[in-house]
Amino acid sequence: ATPVAIMVGTGKGAENGILIKSGEALETAHAIQCVVMDKTGTITEGKPQVTDVITLNASRNELLELALALEKPSEHPLAEAIVAYSEKAGFSAASVEHFKAVFGKGVEADFNGRHYLAGNQRMMNEAGIDCSDLLNQLDQLADQGKTPLLFADTKQVLGILAVADVVKPTSREAIQRFQKQGIDVVMLTGDNKRTAEAIRSQLNINTVIAEVLPQDKEKVISDLQAKGQKVAMIGDGINDAPALARADVGIAIGAGTDVAIESADIVLMRSDLLDAVTALRLSKAVIRNIK
Ligand code: ADP
Ligand code: MG
Repeated sequence: ATPVAIMVGTGKGAENGILIKSGEALETAHAIQCVVMDKTGTITEGKPQVTDVITLNASRNELLELALALEKPSEHPLAEAIVAYSEKAGFSAASVEHFKAVFGKGVEADFNGRHYLAGNQRMMNEAGIDCSDLLNQLDQLADQGKTPLLFADTKQVLGILAVADVVKPTSREAIQRFQKQGIDVVMLTGDNKRTAEAIRSQLNINTVIAEVLPQDKEKVISDLQAKGQKVAMIGDGINDAPALARADVGIAIGAGTDVAIESADIVLMRSDLLDAVTALRLSKAVIRNIK
């Protein structure tokens, strides 16, 4: 495209809260065949809320007190939901020792001199904690689009807290518009397969890739590229930064983390997925003008 066309396109973007960092990104965007989107904070608001408290081998008070203590040091949005919920219920966070976040799985720490875990089924399986009696319950929560978090000591699961996040009001329409242009929409998430599938079917997303560990998101992009696809990635988190950099066009949510914004070619200042649709349309207009 001519420098003038690029300037016009970039200016139009800016008017709509779409920050296009390079002319190259604006040119490449017209050829995108596949848009990969992170779930939490990109398709959804990223402000999950506790929806269910299920006690198994502890009282409700014990469970909430433990959950608060374990999740307080974590920076994960799921942890924030649990902290907010427990504090609102009147608990205050007790301190823990030897806190450790296990990327993509959960957290563990010592509390009152004993060791506890919080996280997904994979976290429990790897610690040798049996969840087989809970599978029906966990599936039921996941089928409602909720993310179940398990709390356990070193022997057994003490309780489950389910957390759910609201889909942003414009996400469905944005996904539809991409698809009408013949673009494949892929949802990428560290969340469990069943929860992800519930959200995929709600929004008619073409493909879901779930239970992806943070370090593997980038590989999903390069695998799609290896199949000859031009790929855009939309994300908000630290986890998404390498995938944003790898994609042909990386698009960051404006309300996302600084690292994501730095790694992206385009930033959506309004955090609205419809603005990603507009960005690709602008690119097509810019290319059409020079042909
Ligand atoms: P996402 O792509 O949804 O941001 P993450 O890789 O951050 O996914 O997390 C994947 C999964 O690991 C979560 O869905 C949750 O089951 C578990 N997990 C991560 N952090 C925590 C935490 N602080 N407490 C409990 N579970 C957690
Ligand atoms: Mg996210």
